[in-house]
Amino acid sequence: MNLLQYCSIFVLIVVSANCKNVPSVEEVCSKLLSKDLKKEISSYKDVTNEIIKYVREGEFKGVTYDELAKFVDTFGPRPSGSQELEDSIDYMIEITKKEGIHDIVTEELEVPHWVRGEEKITMLEPRTKDIALLGLGKSVSTPTEGITAEVVVIEDFTELETKSVEGKIVVYVPVFTTYSDTVPYRSQGAARAAERGAVASLVRSITPFSINSPHTGSQYYEDDVTKIPTAAISLEDADMIKRLYERGEKVVLNVKMTSTLDTKISRNTLVDLKGSGNPEKLVIVSGHIDSWDVGQGAMDDGGGLFISWAAPVVLKRLNLIPKRTIRAIFWTTEELGLVGAYDYEERHRAENGNINFIMESDEGTFSPTGLEVSGNQMARCIVGEVLKLFKSINASTLVEKGEYASVGSDIGVLTKTGIPGAGLLNENEKYFWFHHTEGDTMNVESPEELDLGTAFWTAAAYVIADLSIDIPR
Ligand SMILES: [Zn+2]
Repeated sequence: MNLLQYCSIFVLIVVSANCKNVPSVEEVCSKLLSKDLKKEISSYKDVTNEIIKYVREGEFKGVTYDELAKFVDTFGPRPSGSQELEDSIDYMIEITKKEGIHDIVTEELEVPHWVRGEEKITMLEPRTKDIALLGLGKSVSTPTEGITAEVVVIEDFTELETKSVEGKIVVYVPVFTTYSDTVPYRSQGAARAAERGAVASLVRSITPFSINSPHTGSQYYEDDVTKIPTAAISLEDADMIKRLYERGEKVVLNVKMTSTLDTKISRNTLVDLKGSGNPEKLVIVSGHIDSWDVGQGAMDDGGGLFISWAAPVVLKRLNLIPKRTIRAIFWTTEELGLVGAYDYEERHRAENGNINFIMESDEGTFSPTGLEVSGNQMARCIVGEVLKLFKSINASTLVEKGEYASVGSDIGVLTKTGIPGAGLLNENEKYFWFHHTEGDTMNVESPEELDLGTAFWTAAAYVIADLSIDIPR
């Protein structure tokens, strides 16, 4: 918990209280940051404005959106282990080289290759109805004739412990609150239900909104537990099943799913704009290039991929070379378990001390509002001071997380080792409407918002990479 949160909770409890005894972030940081450092950071005003202007009004206006659209229209979805993913990696390398950036390395690793086959759920009792579904990542197949069984509706894991689900199909119906609170029913639901003897598990899609659209996602079997088929169903169908069940009706489903699972080789891609003073030190910007097999991966995470691609490109075009190296990483296989990020952390462990700061955008590229920062108090104060440069585009919000906290899916693998980092904050209230569905297309993206994202991402990375001091750990 940070000071501001503490303060607001305090206000909630004691309505009339003020927070004079709890120093604000501003007060804490004003003691930690020297006048000289503040002055130094504010001196970047002109260069950040130059970057913002170039991207929003100059030659780069609309480029992020156009390049993303070209990419998405050419390759479509890019699931882990697919040829489309590998072709899209080659393409990113090609368009980066066209910008005159040739410090590009790819690192091969083994990744899962899960291919969805036919999927169909039919409600047989109390009436016949097709149920919209998407199998969850790495789900096993059912027998050819499917699995026919009665449903037990489960609201939460506590209830699972109290009900008999042996030989039944568990339907989890958690109502979306936040992603992190609700997602365990998707990611652990099958393993937990199988432990109790269920033959399949379904989950109400992890989303606050639906037009009968199921949302897929990753899930994890446990080594010593039977692997049962598992899928997400739409909010509408889940809620109907719940109502029928609560009225005491017997609900029987037939679940038919097929899929295959093997491994392939994929690649992380590292693009370096070498620093002018300390090229061994890195400021990393990143997004993942793989996507789910449904939708187009325009939002998740095409947007994050392209603003991270744009950062070294824009700086190179403007001949703004910071002291430290700007490294753009296009992570592979985020969706099936952060496989690319784990490989990078392990492969580079000996030199990860040189990562000065690591950034990731994987929660939408709507209008940027600031950064969620993981690191010690001094690190957070420095980044907070940098964020003040972005008041003109309303992107000055600092959300503080502690040291070792996760502020992004892929970079969480690195920040939890103590590397300071940040995730992009943006106006992503509708992000989970489209997440992991057929609706993740270019229609979710906006040229103006992507320009703002590119401008902010590029300029913030530039300033941090050029400061006279390292972001401390
Ligand atoms: Zn993502």
